[in-house]
Amino acid sequence: VPALEIRDLRKTYATGVEALKGISLSVAPGDFYALLGPNGAGKSTLIGIVSSLANKSAGEVKVFGVDLHAQRSQAMRLIGLVPQEINFNMFETPFDILVNYAGFYGIPRAEAVVRANQELARAQLSEKAKTMSRTLSGGMKRRLMIARAMMTRPKLLILDEPTAGVDIEIRRGMWKTLKEVNAAGTTVILTTHYLEEAESLCRNLAIIDRGRIIEQGPMKALLAKL
Ligand code: ADP
Ligand code: ADP
Repeated sequence: VPALEIRDLRKTYATGVEALKGISLSVAPGDFYALLGPNGAGKSTLIGIVSSLANKSAGEVKVFGVDLHAQRSQAMRLIGLVPQEINFNMFETPFDILVNYAGFYGIPRAEAVVRANQELARAQLSEKAKTMSRTLSGGMKRRLMIARAMMTRPKLLILDEPTAGVDIEIRRGMWKTLKEVNAAGTTVILTTHYLEEAESLCRNLAIIDRGRIIEQGPMKALLAKL
């Protein structure tokens, strides 16, 4: 079964804006998939629906075959979300942020500690584990957001514009962490408006514009067309 299957997804806001006008796509397990498009294309709306933060107007979403509408909590257990804004407590250490997050999801403390150390290593944060998060660099904070989402061991990791507005050095550090996450078997989907980011990370992508998919397929095939 696909990691994510979306069929004819539509969203009309109360304002009358048709943000999604019939989106269909399928993401294979293990894929690294980009939703590429300009501001206002509908990317955040799509991510919001898939991560259950917002309601659709019509259509079907399945996560590893589990219907997001009919079996929401079961589907949500398969998903990890990295929101755009950094939203952890700056007065806790990375280690505590990760262990507390796992605790919130009912993961026993001993297991949470094992996972925290693994995720800190993958995010190149081991040396900062017990440092106040406030003092981390911008890139470190963003990698900590990825590490936190991975604490529940999601099968599908979703990131909404993870590198919007950050410089190339910070982006490269995040790319490294994301490549490792994907190499370990997690399906990754991200939204971006940087072609360069989609190019360096993704095997497959959809280009979305004004609520519609205008191109879809392997990154290599799309690059050949540009
Ligand atoms: P960002 O650029 O950081 O993604 P947005 O401007 O897209 O922020 O959105 C900020 C907030 O305003 C969000 O809650 C979003 O849902 C809402 N919003 C965005 N566009 C509109 C709009 N046209 N009408 C009403 N609310 C909107
Ligand atoms: P993107 O993430 O690609 O920048 P969005 O999903 O944020 O695109 O926005 C798609 C369209 O929906 C835009 O026209 C935006 O103004 C509108 N929109 C987004 N959020 C809201 C909202 N909460 N209420 C009304 N319109 C919104």
